[in-house]
This record gives sequence, structure tokens and C-alpha cells, in this order.
Amino acid sequence: MTTSRRRFLTLGAAAAGLFLPARLAAQAAAPRVVVVGGGFAGASCARALRQADPRIAVTLVEPNRTFTACPFSNAVIAGLRELSAQEFTYDRIAADGIVLARTAATAVDPSARSVALADGAHLAYDRLVLAPGIDIRWNALPGYDEAASEKMPHAWRAGEQTLLLRRQLDAMPDGGLVVMSAPANPFRCPPGPYERASLIAHYLKTKKPRSKLIVLDAKDAFSKQRLFQAAWAELYPGLLEWVPLSKGGNVTSVEPATNTLITDFGRHKAAVANVIPPQRAGRIADAAGVADRTGWCPIDPSTFESKLVPGIHVIGDAAIAGAMPKSAFAANAQAKTCAAAVARLLAGGSPPTPKLINTCYSLVAPDYGISVAGVYQPSGGQLVDVPGSGGLSPTDAPRAVRAVEATLADAWFRTITAEVFG
Ligand SMILES: Cc1cc2nc3c(=O)[nH]c(=O)nc-3n(C[C@H](O)[C@H](O)[C@H](O)COP(=O)(O)OP(=O)(O)OC[C@H]3O[C@@H](n4cnc5c(N)ncnc54)[C@H](O)[C@@H]3O)c2cc1C
Repeated sequence: MTTSRRRFLTLGAAAAGLFLPARLAAQAAAPRVVVVGGGFAGASCARALRQADPRIAVTLVEPNRTFTACPFSNAVIAGLRELSAQEFTYDRIAADGIVLARTAATAVDPSARSVALADGAHLAYDRLVLAPGIDIRWNALPGYDEAASEKMPHAWRAGEQTLLLRRQLDAMPDGGLVVMSAPANPFRCPPGPYERASLIAHYLKTKKPRSKLIVLDAKDAFSKQRLFQAAWAELYPGLLEWVPLSKGGNVTSVEPATNTLITDFGRHKAAVANVIPPQRAGRIADAAGVADRTGWCPIDPSTFESKLVPGIHVIGDAAIAGAMPKSAFAANAQAKTCAAAVARLLAGGSPPTPKLINTCYSLVAPDYGISVAGVYQPSGGQLVDVPGSGGLSPTDAPRAVRAVEATLADAWFRTITAEVFG
């Protein structure tokens, strides 16, 4: 019997009015869950755990005082929105009775069930949830290290990098060349580079119409491709050029000193360079032993428990979630599924078989939205598409429908941030 299960049974015995020796009664402490990472996955999971069972003592480990959301950060880059609209505090989460440890987790000892924190403290857990998002694979693209990102921003974690890219676009003279690179799969937010390309193209069209944008891609296919390409042909002809892998789009190195992206076919010297580099799970996943050789974390699709280390669950971008994309919508859905499973496991029960939903909206212009939706279920140890579910925006929809989808995108962001942080 697990420690946590013993705790709950002890509580149950007390509730039933059974006699408990003082020593045993003193052990009837609440089960402890530590959640590392206060993003869409971790913050949502912490709250869902308290809702599933208020007896669970939940600690959320997150070094930042405010969370800066990536969805809609492409609109910040294009000058359509301020970064402050992306920032959320943890005040309401603390008000839910969740203990906040305002520091980073640095190590995990799975045998002692303990997390080490950067401030020197240790947190004991009965179950641990890791939700650290992504880390950049520095130097996986030769020449692209942390110093290079100050010259050629990735802006793939929202905040200072987002503002840097925006400032560079603002400072660029009309007629300048913007070059973006998109990585091979898997990476955070599959449609994100193409939404960014669209909104940068919108910025150039409206503010610097003699300029041009080239997107160098390590792939031949991408999310919502037909919808994006149809919209680009309609809105940004001659302004936005997408170069797929098969046409020499794969960037093999970068040269920060000259702002140049290099492919097997040539060199692209940019006025503004946005490099979206290869990624991996946040590094605490590695430290905990839950990341495999891919850099991402294999999980059980019903509970999100690590396939490598029992007692540790991984959710959000860090997890290998099969057909589910790495999105904030998916992170929130996984958080709730994981919380329900953890609460059941702590109570000695077995978790239900989940179905999870994802919808990703993208803006091609401020009043032009498109979306893709999917429903997923466990099968063969992975999350797979539920046959016949999900879908894309229609390819031949009138502009009024695109405008409605842009409004829906905004409504989605307000709803998810209110649910997770509000
Ligand atoms: C440009 C862009 C646009 C996007 N648009 C959309 C969109 O429209 N819709 C959508 O659904 N998704 C979108 N996404 C994807 C979305 O942002 C991510 O999928 C989502 O943030 C994943 O949530 P997460 O909780 O796994 O990671 P995050 O939200 O990144 O949260 C991780 C948290 O963990 C913390 N952390 C990391 N390591 C530690 C540690 N050792 N100790 C303590 N804390 C730690 C970090 O500080 C961070 O707060 C977009 C992404 C980008 C880059």
C-alpha cells in the first residue's frame, strides 16, 4: 500500500469514528502534491487538484512573479497589442489555498520523493507533477546560442524576447528584409511560426510596404497549411515567401555577427532575423530523469504519469502527448486530466479513461482567424485522434466567417487565462 493511500485510509477511519492511537492520528496528514511550473499546464493542474479534493496539500513551484503568455504574443510583435495584456499574476491561485514556492526546482530525488529548490529548501511529495514547458536547444542549430538570441531573437518564450523582436521591426527601414526560420517537428505551437509570419506580413504591408518576409522552413508541411497559404495569396502576395525543406528552406547554421541565416542553398542576410530554434522539455525534466533521448517526456496517456519514473507526472509542452499538439489549450486539458487521475490514485482508486480536446486558433490578420480542432483518447500507450472527430476551418469561407473566428480566438484567450489565472 502506498504512503498516500495509507494516509487517506487513516482519514477515512477517523471520519467513520473508529478509534485511532495518537501516533497514527498524527500521521493522518494530507497527501502532498508538488507541481513544478506555473504556466498553462502547471497552474491549471494545481487548481484542478484542489477542486478534485480540497484535502490535497498542493505546492506550486514557479520562480516568476507574473506569467507571460505566448498565445497572442505574435500580435504584440506586430504592434497590435501590448505585452501587459499577456501578463497574469498568481494571486488568485494563492487565494485557492495553493502554497506558492517562488523559486525554481533544481533537482528531484524520486526515491526520497523530494524536490530540491534553488533557495536551498526541499519539498517532500506523494506525487509530483512537472510542467516546465520548453527549453531552447542552444547550439543544436550551429551558431545559435544564448548570446545570438539577443541579436536574432527567437521570441518563443514570451517576454523580453517578444519586445526585442518588436523593437527590431519598428527600427527597420522600409524596404528591409525580414527572415524567419521554423524548426522541424516537434516544437511548441505547430501553427505558431505561420501565425507569426502572417502578422509580421500584416505589419509590413501596413507600415513598411516595400519590405519583404522570407520564411525558411525545416519542413515541407505544417499545421493549417492550406488555410494559411490561401490567406497569404489573398492578403500578402509578393510580400511573404515560404521556402520549404525540399526547396532549400532548412537552416543549417546562423551567423549572428552579420545577421545571416545559412542553408545548403545559400545565405540570407536579414535586416531582422527571427530564429525559432529546436526545443526540448524544460531542463528539470532531464534532472528528474523523465526525459528520453528525444529530449521530451514519455507519459501514460490516461494519467500523464512518466513511463520512466513512477510517481512523477508530466504535462504540457514537456510531455510526449502523441497526436496532441503542444498548445496552451492542450496543456490545460492535460492538466485537468492529470489532476483527476492524481486525486484518484491518492485516494486508492483507479483513474478513468479520458478524452481530451484541443483547438488552436491562428490570426492571419487582425480580423482574419482560422482554427484546427481535435479530440484525443488513449490507445496503444499513446494519445490518438478519435476517429471522425475534429476538423479545420472551411477553405472557402467568406471573410465574415474569418472575422468571427478572429473574435473567437480572442474569446478563447480571455476564457483560458481567466480559468487558469483569474
Ligand atoms: C508565439 C506563440 C504563440 C502561441 N499561440 C498559441 C495559441 O494561440 N493557442 C495555444 O493553445 N497555444 C499557443 N502557444 C503555445 C503555448 O504557449 C504553449 O503550448 C503553452 O504555454 C504550454 O504550457 P506549459 O505550461 O507546458 O508551458 P509554459 O506555459 O511555458 O509554462 C512553463 C512554466 O514552468 C516554469 N518553469 C520552468 N522550469 C521550471 C523550474 N525548474 N522550476 C519552476 N518553474 C519552472 C516557467 O517559468 C513557466 O512559467 C503559442 C506559443 C508561442 C511561442
